Amino acid sequence: MTDNIYDLLIIGAGPAGLAASIYSSRYRLSNLVIGKLLGGELSLAHKIENYPGFLDISGFDLAQIWQKQVENLGAKVLLKEVGRLELTGEGENKSFKAYFSKNEYYQAKALIIATGSERRRLNIPGEEEYLGKGVSYCHTCDAPFFKEKTVVIIGGSDSAVSGAVHTAEFAKKVYLVYRKDKLRAEPAWINQWQQIEKQAKGETIYNTNVKEIIGDKTRITGVKLDKPYKGQEIISTDGVFIEIGGVPGTALVEPLGIKLDERGYVIVSEQMETNIPGLFSAGDMTNKSASFKQATWAIAQGAMAAASAYKYLKNTTAPAIRGI
Ligand code: NDP
Repeated sequence: MTDNIYDLLIIGAGPAGLAASIYSSRYRLSNLVIGKLLGGELSLAHKIENYPGFLDISGFDLAQIWQKQVENLGAKVLLKEVGRLELTGEGENKSFKAYFSKNEYYQAKALIIATGSERRRLNIPGEEEYLGKGVSYCHTCDAPFFKEKTVVIIGGSDSAVSGAVHTAEFAKKVYLVYRKDKLRAEPAWINQWQQIEKQAKGETIYNTNVKEIIGDKTRITGVKLDKPYKGQEIISTDGVFIEIGGVPGTALVEPLGIKLDERGYVIVSEQMETNIPGLFSAGDMTNKSASFKQATWAIAQGAMAAASAYKYLKNTTAPAIRGI
């Protein structure tokens, strides 16, 4: 291996990418993980109670442990944003290149793309204008700034409800605005949120959308609802956390001609192969994760992608893997 040439490049430093590195290193494939954020979206989770092996751990702490494990097995994690991917050559000469700038790149014969998802936007007036002035997409990062304030959280699944529970540790009042009539987060989160509602510190506004975020140009002052709640069309608030999920982060691989399904997820085989030989995918961006985005599942896919990369590179089944 020269300085910038590896057997395998892994783009994405979330659970899938880090697991892929751990497995690849054990297969003795030289590999480099390149990602924007160590631990990916999971690193923003303030409290994880369903990751086996830990009663309770933050996403940040879990990601640090994974990084140590990756490094202990001889690989590196480079926290940097890839600007462009390129695929050149055929057969023996085939090469994937990950560019940071015109002359700065890493290359490998195989690549695992595990770039997860991007936060979904509401695309309503005021959302962009007040970003960082009361609007946030990350309750874990920003809830502590709303001590004794009022916060509106939008969404009805795990990020929104766990976010409401977390924010209530700081804020004096949390409104959860959900477009349907029944929250669909894990029952454990819903139970905790119901306890907060009983103390009148939390309130859920069902069957409602936020149609505008309003403010005084420097800070937000409220949200406009699409139907009145307790006679009011505007809820006064100091903060709005938009926790409405994500869209697959496929921008880097689309120019390579990777096949996506109708929802925008990368189509992978059982072995995490994409339609492009030598290019594998794992984690939240794949069609296998469309309805179950969990770290454990992303990790399993990362491990499988590593085994498939080994098979592709060595032309033989990965050690201790049967039936592929
Ligand atoms: P999800 O995709 O699960 O949910 C998105 C939520 O936002 C849904 O309630 C959806 O409504 C709502 N929504 C989407 N678009 C809009 C819109 N334009 N306007 C209003 N509401 C909208 O995303 P999450 O980020 O909550 O979770 C992503 C994954 O991560 C999930 O698999 C989740 O289980 C996992 N996760 C797990 C956690 C845990 O503690 N176990 C914590 C956080 C995330 P609707 O219900 O109508 O579709």
